Amino acid sequence: MSHRVTLIPGDGVGPEITQAARRVIDAAGVAIDWEVADAGAEVFRKGDSSGVPKETRESIERTRVALKGPLETPVGFGEKSANVTLRKLFDTYANIRPARQLPGVPTRYDKEGVDFIVVRYNIEDLYAGVEYDNTRDVSVALKIISRKGSEKIIRYAFELAEREGRQKVTVATKANILKRTEGLFKSVFEELAPEYPTITAEHLIIDNVAHQMVKNPAQFDVIVTTNLHGDIISDLASGLVGGLGFAASGNYGDEVAIFEAVHGSAPKYAGKNVINPTAVMLSSVMMLSHLGEAAAAKRIEDAIFVTLEAGAVTLDVARATGDVEHATSTSGFADAIIANLGKEPARRYPTKAGVLTGPVPAPRQRWSYGTARAIDNAVYGYDIYVEADMTPVVLGDMLSEIAGPDFSLELMSTRGTKVYPPTGGRMDSVEWWRCRFVPTAVGGATDAAFADLLQRVSAKVPWVQAFKLRLYGGEAGFTKAQGQ
Ligand code: NAD
Repeated sequence: MSHRVTLIPGDGVGPEITQAARRVIDAAGVAIDWEVADAGAEVFRKGDSSGVPKETRESIERTRVALKGPLETPVGFGEKSANVTLRKLFDTYANIRPARQLPGVPTRYDKEGVDFIVVRYNIEDLYAGVEYDNTRDVSVALKIISRKGSEKIIRYAFELAEREGRQKVTVATKANILKRTEGLFKSVFEELAPEYPTITAEHLIIDNVAHQMVKNPAQFDVIVTTNLHGDIISDLASGLVGGLGFAASGNYGDEVAIFEAVHGSAPKYAGKNVINPTAVMLSSVMMLSHLGEAAAAKRIEDAIFVTLEAGAVTLDVARATGDVEHATSTSGFADAIIANLGKEPARRYPTKAGVLTGPVPAPRQRWSYGTARAIDNAVYGYDIYVEADMTPVVLGDMLSEIAGPDFSLELMSTRGTKVYPPTGGRMDSVEWWRCRFVPTAVGGATDAAFADLLQRVSAKVPWVQAFKLRLYGGEAGFTKAQGQ
């Protein structure tokens, strides 16, 4: 049976590496109808601000599987990342990034036996990309973590661990500081862990994960984490096993899966036929497993291992070993893999269970969500953010006066630290203040009262953002200010 796959060559080195992968897959005898599709820089240049044209979206709708090269994203300005758009459009929520030591690839961790999988939640977190310039000089981003999204990715991690014969799932969070967002992710993990009794569940703070990964990476098996942490630690992980040239990934959703190397478009090497195609080839191995082509996946993986065992390396590794003369070209590396198809490596890699041996099954069960869970809530008050060039005392006294009689000003903070009522601390401030108003009477926090308060505030200073502070079952659904 022939499979249909959308092939997105992408930007920079993308066309070279995806071409190399395509040649190897074709040589392995897997029948694939490739639908070649555009995304990325060229598409932006043509004026499509999403970077992913309609034809490409339609192709993925049809094929449900894509192999993509890296896509360029301007840094600090311009359009949103087409990569992130693609992952989100098709809800490929589970970003799976294995990090395992490979034969013949010299690393500082040769004797450690690195072999773990980072499971990163692709959809939410700061990658939601909801950002505002609240003033000309203060920009904010919303870090969005939902219980539903957390359940999906954490179940995914546990089920992946069970399927792959792994022993342990580590959840990596910053719940010590980000108590509501990262705290939610951690608490969902803790609620779900007992459903997977054969797997050891542990929580580590993300900064410690970074430290432990460098110090003793063999302790990790499966790491599940939120989007930004996952992005950073999976690059760190690739550094343990030879660098970005070897880091494969798959983005899995309930219906669509997109496979790509972890690395970017490496523009300075574009068109030079020197870049390492192993990462995208190992991503193709993941893709073939997903397509149910386990035998072909193994043949290609074995051929990659045989090639590496034989000492073939591209420039990235040759540079590291000081043997640039003997670097293999990108296409030459693909030729060597093709020549090695059907050969067995000297030993099996990794020593633990194989990585991603089959299609992704749908997660086992779902908790219930929706308004039913939100019935038991009340409004504690409101945070109104204002822009004002005043001292905290002057601003605070003024807002306290206009708050009454329906509200009182409970506190003001600047960048999260309480400054009013005065704390005695020394705080440099910016002209952007959070002002927390609470009703003076029970039941006083109505929309009408809030609208009225907002108008009174606005008559004095411009407000730039506002949040409703909710209580759930009497518990605060918001954080205190530092120093409160
Ligand atoms: P990059 O991954 O392109 O390069 C980082 C470093 O790693 C460079 O020194 C590069 O030469 C090296 N490198 C990367 N892949 C390699 C390979 N296969 N073999 C050998 N060396 C390799 O990261 P960057 O320079 O930060 O980003 C360049 C562009 O890629 C940016 O526009 C960025 O937004 C984009 N990007 C895209 C993706 C993606 O499509 N998934 C991921 C990361 C970055």
